[in-house]
This record gives sequence, C-alpha cells and structure tokens, in this order.
Amino acid sequence: MSDQIVENVKAAGVVGAGGAGFPTHVKIAARVDTVIANGAECEPLLRGDQHLMAAQAHEVVQGLRLVMQASGAQHGVIALKRKYHAAITALQSALDRQPALNIRLHLLENYYPAGDEFLLVYEVTGRLVPETGLPLHVGCIVQNVGTLVNVARAQRSEPVTHRLLTVTGEVREPKTLRVPIGTPIGEVIQWAGGAKSDDLLQKSDNVLPSAVIPVVLGGPMMGRLARSLDEPVTKTTSGIIVLPPDNVTVRHLSRPLGSWVKRGRSTCDQCRDCTDLCPRYLLGHDLEPHKIMRTINYGITEQPLNVTAAVLCCECRLCEAYACPLGLSPCAYYREVKRQLAAQGWRNDVHKRTDLTPRPFREFRHVPTERLTARLGLTKYAGFECPLDPGDYQPKRVSIPLRQHIGVAARPVVREGDVVSVGDLVGEIPEGKLGARVHASISGRVERATTEEVVIVA
Ligand code: SF4
Ligand code: SF4
Repeated sequence: MSDQIVENVKAAGVVGAGGAGFPTHVKIAARVDTVIANGAECEPLLRGDQHLMAAQAHEVVQGLRLVMQASGAQHGVIALKRKYHAAITALQSALDRQPALNIRLHLLENYYPAGDEFLLVYEVTGRLVPETGLPLHVGCIVQNVGTLVNVARAQRSEPVTHRLLTVTGEVREPKTLRVPIGTPIGEVIQWAGGAKSDDLLQKSDNVLPSAVIPVVLGGPMMGRLARSLDEPVTKTTSGIIVLPPDNVTVRHLSRPLGSWVKRGRSTCDQCRDCTDLCPRYLLGHDLEPHKIMRTINYGITEQPLNVTAAVLCCECRLCEAYACPLGLSPCAYYREVKRQLAAQGWRNDVHKRTDLTPRPFREFRHVPTERLTARLGLTKYAGFECPLDPGDYQPKRVSIPLRQHIGVAARPVVREGDVVSVGDLVGEIPEGKLGARVHASISGRVERATTEEVVIVA
C-alpha cells in the first residue's frame, strides 16, 4: 500500500509547493516517525495556505494520513498559526470526525520565519536537525499543506495542473485564485483587476535595473523579482505581489551584490545584531553573519570556516530586511559565497554538527510579523484578506516549464501539433534521475515542445 501511494504521487507530478519544489515521491519514501504538515505560511501578505486549510481541511488531513502511511509514521502534526481561526476550526472538525488518526494541531505564534523546516521541527518535536541536514535525520518529514492536498488528489489519479496563489499589493482586487500552471503572470494580474496604475508595470529603468519589474514572485522575504510579465506560474508560485518601484522590498531584491559590498565595507560596525537575530544561529548552528561581513570587508583569509559557513544560511533575509540597523546584507554575501563554492565543486565535510544547543534567549528573539511587514514597507497591504476566488480562469496560452522542481528537467513526450487535454502527460522523468512529471494544464494544441518548455494554445 505504501509503495502504491508513492507511485501515485510520482505519477501525478507532485512537488513541494512551499517553495523549493523537491519531488514529493522521493521525500515520502523515507522512513520516519512523525510527519508535520506545514501550514505556518510565515511570509507577509500571502494567504493561499490559510484559505486552503479553511476550505479543504478534509483533503489536508487526508494527504497527511497518506504521507504517514507511506513513511510508516505514527504521529501526524498540523502546524499553523494561532491566528488562523477559520483554518483551526475547519481542521479540528475534520480531525474530530476521525479520532483514530493520531493527528494533532500545533499552534504557532505570529513570527517570521515560523515555517522554516528546521525551526518547525524544533518547535513541534524539540529535535534539532543537524547542520546542513534534513528533517528526516531526526525522524521527521515536513510537507507544505498545499503539497498534501496534491498528495490526496494524486490518489484519485488527478495530476498537478493548477496552482493556488495570492495576488496582492498594488492591484485593484487582491485575491487568492487557482490558475493553470504556465499562465503568464501578467494575465493573472489582470484577473485580479489589473495594476492600480498602468505606469507601475511599464518600464521602471529609472529606478530599477532593466532586467526586473516591480512584481515579487513568491513571498516578499524569500521570493524574487519577476523578469517579465510573460513569466509563467509554476507549481511553486505562492504569490504575485505588485509593488511601487521605490518600495524598500523592491529596492533590496534588485540591489546588485557590488552595491551591498560597497555599503558593507563603508558602514558595518560589527554590532552583531545580524547574528543575534539569525534564526539558524539561535538554533545553535555555527553561523555568525557579522563574521562574514568582517571576513569579506577586510579580506581576512586565515579563517575559511567563516566563509564556508555560508552553507548554513537558509537565505531567510532576516539579517538584511530586519536585523541590521544600517541596512546591510550578510545574506547577499552568503548567497554569492554559496554560488562560488558550488561552482568550485566544494564538498562540505565540516559544517555538519549534530551536538547543537539552542542559544539562550532564543524564544525572546522571534521577529513579529507585523514589525517585519512595516520594515518591508508593506503595512499598507497587510490588511488585505485576498479572499478565495472560486472562478475557473482559462488562459488562451500556457508555457509550461519542464523544470519546476529540484532535479533534472522533465523530457518532453509531446510534439508540435499534438492535441492534449488537461491532465495529459507532457513531460516524463528521465530514466534513473531525480525529477518530477509535468502535465498539460489546459486542453488545446501543442504549439511548441522544447527541452525547456511545452507551449499549449487553447
Ligand atoms: S551587518 Fe549590520 S547588523 Fe551585522 S554586524 Fe554589520 S552593522 Fe551590525
Ligand atoms: S539570511 Fe541572514 S538571518 Fe537568515 S539564516 Fe542567513 S545569515 Fe541568518
């Protein structure tokens, strides 16, 4: 039975919906004792997971039960914020109908990054994931609630063809809607009433680098700026946030590394606020972001561990967006170091400590989401409920990327001119590789099939 669950999830192309896009069939094949459903949705402004838990609580519970079955876990926990009242009521009532399931709710306070896997495992179980380790190293699987709904659907042979996401910020009708994968983000913005000012999405070259527009894909902390309005929605797109070009979040996300380093060299005073609020440092990891500033800014070469510690950084951006009083970014330094280490083929044999002890005062150093939202210049949008829109949105054309996940790209199995229906397989996992299947999100004719994407016209 557990093998069949894994096979069904693989066939349906389910990947982690929380952001990373790790193929779910690989993750749930591990043996663990606890599965944690991640409903924290800790990124400011996003609403999708909250609506999903309230509207489809039964499917969240069903998906969690299936992952518990697949992995042999005896315990299931749904972790979500105490303030998600509608979701708590719906989930509790779904659980009350099936008391034998051994699944409980775990309520979190409203801080960032409450949904970080390492933090979540510690909060829920008291176990500490080793440095650069995985939750399964301490007997846990963490799955986003959207992924769990897709797991439940996979058992009914329904592949992943759509994505629930929040469209908010400077749009006329902020909302949460379910859209076919591959839809251009510009079209989704139109479905939310369009940008409040037409100028907003036109060329912003006088404020921003020409390669980006002021639309954040994902959350404002771990998302990125879109490169064009033609970029497609993928299985991991949790939000589309339209912002003014001079918004602080847009300025941070568009600032080039050279500018971060120049500012760091001239103003970092080694106050170590970035370290004292770093969530991974607070869990006991040997990650002290003030030291990367010192090491790079002064060209110190005799302490290489301060540099390679970059692999411990989860790029939550808290140091950059909240902790540093001077608006500097250790995160940008770490991101570049990680890129260079990967390019050099550097192997991590050092940052793997398992004897971790959380730092004193950790629980007093959570960053409240309201205060973070204010620092991000987003308070104006924080009250938007972004209600769930049940509309059946149909684009005329979709460009479905064949790599929306960790691993290798799917291999196209359709050709130009083929006629496909929603749910038909268009991309297969190459033999023996880590990857995920890809399916048609609308019915129509294949206009183009390359090694990178399949374009379908209705
Ligand atoms: S980067 Fe900012 S917070 Fe960190 S040590 Fe320098 S000035 Fe202090
Ligand atoms: S981005 Fe900054 S705060 Fe977040 S883990 Fe990395 S160093 Fe720590």
